[in-house]
Amino acid sequence: MEERHQRICLIHYHEIGLKGRNRSVFEKRLLKNVEALLSDFPVVTIHRISGRLCVFLREGTTFERALEVAATVRYVPGVARVSCGFKCERDLSVMNEVAINALAETGDFESFKVHARRNHTDFETDSMQMNQIVGAALCGAFPDKKVKMKDPDVTVAVEVVQNAVYIYARSERGVGGLPVGSSGRVACLLSSGIDSPVALWKMARRGAICIGVHFSGRPQTSDTSEYLVDDIAHVLERTGCIARVYVVPFGDYQKEIALTVPPSLRVIMYRRLMFKVAERIALREKAGALVTGESLGQVASQTLDNIRATDHAVDMPVFRPLIGSDKLDIIEDAQRLGTFEISSQDAPDCCTLFMPRNPETHAKIPAVLEAEAALPLDRWIDELVESAEPHDYACPSYRPR
Ligand code: ATP
Ligand code: MG
Repeated sequence: MEERHQRICLIHYHEIGLKGRNRSVFEKRLLKNVEALLSDFPVVTIHRISGRLCVFLREGTTFERALEVAATVRYVPGVARVSCGFKCERDLSVMNEVAINALAETGDFESFKVHARRNHTDFETDSMQMNQIVGAALCGAFPDKKVKMKDPDVTVAVEVVQNAVYIYARSERGVGGLPVGSSGRVACLLSSGIDSPVALWKMARRGAICIGVHFSGRPQTSDTSEYLVDDIAHVLERTGCIARVYVVPFGDYQKEIALTVPPSLRVIMYRRLMFKVAERIALREKAGALVTGESLGQVASQTLDNIRATDHAVDMPVFRPLIGSDKLDIIEDAQRLGTFEISSQDAPDCCTLFMPRNPETHAKIPAVLEAEAALPLDRWIDELVESAEPHDYACPSYRPR
C-alpha cells in the first residue's frame, strides 16, 4: 500500500549552506554529481527544495531499492545527511498514513517524536498542531512505543512545502565535505599501498578533482601494482572521487638511479624524480598541487629533512593530508573507504625494488643536488611523461583534455 506514495531521498548539505554566494554553484555541482552516480537507479528527477536536494524515485520503487539509493548517495562528497521517505498530498489523513509507513520502515526503535515544519503559511494547520495530530496517529499505530522529546531513537520529520508534504523517519549521516569539482584539480601520487588512496579520497572530499599518477616497476617488475591501482580507482569511482590515473612505467629509470647514485640517496632520488614527473603531468592537467600519502616519521623517507628534500624538487605546493595521522587511523579510513583489502595485497612496486639497506633519513639538499647532477634528468622526465598511460574513470565534473 505504501507504493501509492512517491518515494524520495532528501539530501542535506550543511557545509555548502555556509558558503554564501557560492552556494548555488555548489548546489548545482552536487546535483550533477549525484545525478550521474544515480544513473542506474530508478530516479525520475532531482530538484533543489528549500536548502536540500530531493531525489524523486519512480513509482513502484521498493523500500530496498530506495535504501540502495541512500547508501550510494551517503558517500558522495558534499552530502551531510540522507533521509529516506515519501512525498504526499497536503491532507492530514494522508499525512498520518504516510507517517505511519515511514516510521514502520525505520527498523528497531523504542522512542520517537514528530518534528513538523511549514514552509508556507497557506497550509492552515501550524507546526504545533501537526506535531499533535501526526503524533497521535503514530501513538495509535505503535501503542508500545514511547514519545520522547529529548534524544528519541527516531524523529519523524513532516515538512509542508508549497504544494506537497515530505515525510521521512530514516536518516543517516553522509561523508560531508564539498562536492567534487568545487575546489579545482590536484595530481595525487597513487601507489597500491594503504595510505595514498586515503589521501586522495580526503582531497576529493574537500571538493578537488583528483588525477592519480602511479609509478609502476614495469618492465623491471610485473604489472601487479597497476591492476591493484585500477581496482582501487574503481572503488573511488563509485562516489565520483577519481577522474583519471596515469600509469608511468618507472622500473628502468629506477634501475639506472640504483646503478649511479650512492645507495643512501637512492630513495630520495626516486622520489624527487616521481615528484618532477607528477608535476609535469599536473601542469598538463591544469592541476594546482601534488598530493601524497605521507605521514610524518612513518618510514625512513618521511622525515622532515627528506620531505624538504623532495618538496625542493618541484615548484608546486605538495599536500599531505595524512601527515599527522597514525597508521591505525589511516587503516580505519581505508577499511571504511573499501580500499584496505586491495591495498593489503602484495605488489612488487618500484619502491621495494632497488631498496638500499640504509636509506638516508636526513638528506641535505646540496648533496642531493650534486648526486642528481650526474643524471640526465630533463631527458628522463620528457620520456617518462611521454610514456604515461592515462586510464579514465567516471567523474562527472571532469572532462578529459
Ligand atoms: P602508501 O601506503 O601510500 O604506499 P607508504 O607508507 O608505502 O605509502 P612511501 O613508500 O614512502 O610510503 O610512499 C609515500 C608516498 O609516496 C605514497 O603515499 C604515495 O603518495 C607516493 N608513492 C610511493 N610509491 C608510489 C608509486 N609507486 N607510485 C605513485 N606514488 C607513490
Ligand atoms: Mg607504499
